[in-house]
Amino acid sequence: MTPLEEVRQLVLSFCSRQAPVNLPRAEAAGQVLAADVVATEPVPPFANTAVDGYALIAADTANGSCELQVIGEVAAGAVSSLTVTPGTAIRIMTGAPIPAGCDAVVMVEDTERVGDNHVKVNRVVDSGAAIRNAGSDVAVGATVFTAGTRISPMVEGVLASINAKTVQVYPQVRVGVMSTGDELVDDGSPLQPGHIRESNRTMLLRIIEEAGATAIDLGIVRDNEAVLEQALRDALNVHGCDALVTSGGVSMGDYDVVKAVLGRIAKMHWFQIAMKPAKPFAFGTLSNSKGVAVPVFGLPGNPVSSLMSFELIARPALRTMMGFTDAFRPRVRAVLDEDVKRGEDGKVHFDRVHATWGHDGRVHVVRSGAQGSHQLAATSAANAIMAIPDGTGVQAGSEVVVTFLGPDSGPFRP
Ligand code: AMP
Ligand code: MG
Repeated sequence: MTPLEEVRQLVLSFCSRQAPVNLPRAEAAGQVLAADVVATEPVPPFANTAVDGYALIAADTANGSCELQVIGEVAAGAVSSLTVTPGTAIRIMTGAPIPAGCDAVVMVEDTERVGDNHVKVNRVVDSGAAIRNAGSDVAVGATVFTAGTRISPMVEGVLASINAKTVQVYPQVRVGVMSTGDELVDDGSPLQPGHIRESNRTMLLRIIEEAGATAIDLGIVRDNEAVLEQALRDALNVHGCDALVTSGGVSMGDYDVVKAVLGRIAKMHWFQIAMKPAKPFAFGTLSNSKGVAVPVFGLPGNPVSSLMSFELIARPALRTMMGFTDAFRPRVRAVLDEDVKRGEDGKVHFDRVHATWGHDGRVHVVRSGAQGSHQLAATSAANAIMAIPDGTGVQAGSEVVVTFLGPDSGPFRP
């Protein structure tokens, strides 16, 4: 058996970052910048007011109370042609450019209107008050984002604010997903004897999208070598996949056709990983018609095993190809709240757990339910995976290492 870490190292050595591309900003959302972004426009583009109020000369308010003549008004989107002189003010709305002559804005709450064209200011206003200077958010020439930054919704907003119309990013990986097995049904029809409903591909397609890649549904492929070989070649040369994920057919069964076909047409590594679940795992590369070596992840068919090997091996590899600096899911040390017994078998056990935030400010975990590799329903209640090292188990109160699952799987603070 090979330690998980060794398998991961080998897989990652074949999964380097893809060549960067230039994309329109909106199409690049969620992806990783391949180059620094330097601002060519200041934000804000001009000095403007942070409040609704009156633009004035701060020195006029030095005594703590004064009355000024209101000579005009200016709203956001307009520019005043008037100049503020001592003893005058201009009514101004949030976001409007600061008129000539003034050096501060007093908020309307600190004033009283007197008649039609005067205002009383009831406080001392400092020079510069409530003025947002040009470039005070982003200055021209500033490196706003460095390569490796993920384009989050906030980053996308900033890119819009500096008019970055296109950005250089690592492209999304197109990941083809196929399930293999004569027993699988996904069309809703009544089950024939020996048949089961497909679940892995359904799950993996979504997890791949959530990981930031494009998932291509390659359907169910029957346990037939010729059909499978054609499906694999079409995945690369018709669907243009940059990576392939197969489920099933990589263990020791007589009809494990994925093993037979990939063993013949691809450069493969067959693993028995020192972990439970998901001991059988295959990884290799298959050449497309252009001679590009496309990574192939051969996941085991048991649904929980499929999920575990995707999470622990394929996901970080795919994210590395897309330039993510955080290719791995977040890990924390957590307190185990129950005894977990296991036997010595040379493997690390990855139990599915439910993690919550305890009153002691630490993450606490208990197992989420049954731990069989076919029991996806019990696993679906988990929000994390706990590593139990080889041995006889871990006692309640011990510290364990936990990897969170899913985008919103972190434990909530009560
Ligand atoms: P295999 O790895 O092909 O030997 O499959 C191992 C177990 O997983 C068998 O019980 C299969 O029926 C089951 N299995 C394989 N593929 C799927 C799938 N896509 N969805 C649900 N169960 C599957
Ligand atoms: Mg099978």
